[in-house]
Amino acid sequence: MGFPDVITGGCLCGSVRYSISASSETPWPPQSSACQCTMCRKWTSSLIAQFIIVLPDQLEPPLHTHETYDEYESSPGRYRGFCKRCGTSLVWRSTDDSSTVDVFLGTVDERWLVHEDGGKVGQELARPNGTQFWMENAIPGVTDLLKGGKEFLKEGEDGWERKRE
Ligand SMILES: [Zn+2]
Ligand SMILES: [Zn+2]
Repeated sequence: MGFPDVITGGCLCGSVRYSISASSETPWPPQSSACQCTMCRKWTSSLIAQFIIVLPDQLEPPLHTHETYDEYESSPGRYRGFCKRCGTSLVWRSTDDSSTVDVFLGTVDERWLVHEDGGKVGQELARPNGTQFWMENAIPGVTDLLKGGKEFLKEGEDGWERKRE
């Protein structure tokens, strides 16, 4: 079996649909990360925002070609893409780091998150192996139960604090 070469997803109403394909330029399965900052919480209405990090070329079709896709500039140069019909939070991208797009995991289709290969594909996608940001906002015994990746108390350019080795 192994991890599929393509996974699919989209917004709640179905007007934004995407596929993400493997690329030789970046890890596959894609790097999986999580954030508990207040902005991600507000924007996703979830306590933990989980996302996979891909290159724009891996996303087909380009999200901005969808009529209902729009972006909110949540900080200077930081864009959060959503569906303006149903409100689904889809992606985060930065103009500082235009080489990657964070795709919020809850928008990946149930097939991949739950069913494929007896749940193994979902585990690969959802278990953080990248970074868990803003662990200082974790709710003890609840949102710190997600394990995996490097845990940082905050985020920042070079000032990232490592919570645990
Ligand atoms: Zn929608
Ligand atoms: Zn965040």
